[in-house]
Amino acid sequence: MQIVLRGAAAGYEAEHTARIFFPGAELSHTLPPEEEDLVLAVAHSRAYLVLLRRGGVTCWQTAPASASEQPRDQEYDLCRMLYGLLRRATGIRPPWGMMTGVRPVRIIHDMRAEGATEEEIRRRFLDHFDCTPERWNRALQIADLQRPILEQAAPMDCSVYAGIPFCPSRCSYCSFVSRTVGDKATRALMEPYVDCLCRELQATRRTVDACGLQVKTLYIGGGTPTSLNADQLRRLMQCMADNFDPASLQEFTVEAGRPDCTDEEKLRILKEYGATRISINPQTFSDEVLRAIGRRHTAQEILDCFHTARRVGHDNINMDLIAGLPGDTVEGFRRSLRTAISLEPENITVHTLTLKRASNLVVEHRAAAYDDVAAMVESCELLEQAGYRPYYLYRQKGTLQNLENVGWCKPGYECLYNIYIMEEVHTILSAGAGGSTKLVAPGVRHGRIERIFNYKYPTEYIDRFDTVLSRKEGVNHFYAQYLCND
Ligand code: SF4
Repeated sequence: MQIVLRGAAAGYEAEHTARIFFPGAELSHTLPPEEEDLVLAVAHSRAYLVLLRRGGVTCWQTAPASASEQPRDQEYDLCRMLYGLLRRATGIRPPWGMMTGVRPVRIIHDMRAEGATEEEIRRRFLDHFDCTPERWNRALQIADLQRPILEQAAPMDCSVYAGIPFCPSRCSYCSFVSRTVGDKATRALMEPYVDCLCRELQATRRTVDACGLQVKTLYIGGGTPTSLNADQLRRLMQCMADNFDPASLQEFTVEAGRPDCTDEEKLRILKEYGATRISINPQTFSDEVLRAIGRRHTAQEILDCFHTARRVGHDNINMDLIAGLPGDTVEGFRRSLRTAISLEPENITVHTLTLKRASNLVVEHRAAAYDDVAAMVESCELLEQAGYRPYYLYRQKGTLQNLENVGWCKPGYECLYNIYIMEEVHTILSAGAGGSTKLVAPGVRHGRIERIFNYKYPTEYIDRFDTVLSRKEGVNHFYAQYLCND
C-alpha cells in the first residue's frame, strides 16, 4: 500500500490518518502503477478528493473545498473525508477514531483549562475524533484521577532522569540504542560510562541549585539499569542519593527491568540507597514468547526475582506486560495478566506492541498477524476487577491497531514521574547517553518547551563529554529568562 498526498492541506495529518488503517503503508511522491494498492488524498483550492485502490477495487469521494476556511480546518475536512472513506471501505472501527495525537488525556486537561464544558469535551472525543465511548470513558477516568495531582504541581518543580543504555540481550521489538552486555568492548565501556553519568548528575545538582528548582522525582531507566555490576550500581545509587536527598523526594523509581541481570544483592542496593519504586518487567509469562522476543530468561526467573524483591523490602513494584508479542495468543496474554495480578504488584503497565523501524521484529519481517491484539487489550477488565485503576495513558506511532499504553495501579500508587512527563507539567533533566532534557516554562500552562539532547551512543557520550556538559548550560539560560522577567 502506498500513500500519495497532493496539496498543502494533504500533509502529515492525512498521512497519519491513512496509517490508522494501513500502518505499514509507504509514503510515495509519485503515483504507483495501476495494479498497486493506493491511498490518495488531494486538496486543491476548489475541491478535495480521497481515494482508496485495493485489490483492483477503487472507491473515492470528492467534495468542494471552502476557500474561506483556515488551513487547519481545511486539513481537518480532508482528513475527515479520508477517515470516513477508509472506515467504510475497510470495515475497521479504530478505537481512538481519527485522533492522531499521542496524549488523549491532555486534551481533556487543556480543554478544561480553557473553560470548555464537560459536554463540549465529550463531543470533541465522540464527534470530532470519532473515539469509541469506551476510549472516551477511559481517558476521562484518567484525567479525573490526575487532576488533583496536577493541581499540586509548582512552577519550579522538576524531575531528574538517568539513563543506562545497556541490556543483557536485545529484545526483538526494541529500537532503543541499548548495547548488549555480552561482549568485552561493551563491558569495558560501562565503567567510564558510570563515571561520566555521575559527573553529569553532580553538574545537574549544581544546575538545580543555580536555577532554584525543586526536584520532585528521580527515575533511573534504560536499557536495563541492573545490567551494571553491583559496584557500578552502588556507585550510581550513592551518587543519586548524595545529590538528590531521597528523603525530600516524592518518588525514586529504578527500572530493575529484567531478571537475567537482577539479583538479591542489586535489589538490596536499590533499597539501601532510597529507591521507593522499582520495575520488574516480564512482558509475558510465556517461556515460548520470551524466547521469541529474544529474552534469555524464563517466566519462573521473573517470579523468583519478584519474590526476592519483596523479601528485601520493595513495597512498590511495577510490572510491564506487552499485548501483541509474536507467538502470543489472547488466552496466553490473559494468562500472563492473571499471573501478574496474582503477585499483587502495586503497578501493572500494559503496553501494546509498537513496531519501530529499527527493531529486529520489523527488520526481519517477523511481525505476526496481530488480529487478536484488541482482544488482549480488552482483557484489562481483569485489572479493574482486581482493584487496579488506570492512571496514565499514552499512544505511540506504529502501535498495533493504533491502540494505547496504560499504567494501572492500586489506589495511591500512581507513578508521579509518569504523569509529570506525559502531561509535560514540569522540566525533566536527563543525564546519560540518549538523554533528552525537556525544559518546561515555569508558571505558564503549556508555555514554551525546549529540549537539550545528549549524544545517543555511549561511546560518543563518553568521548564528547565536555560538549554534553556545555550544552547543559542551556538549562541556566532557559531559566534565566523567566527569573529576569519576574
Ligand atoms: S530490555 Fe528494554 S531496552 Fe533492553 S533490549 Fe529489551 S526492550 Fe530494549
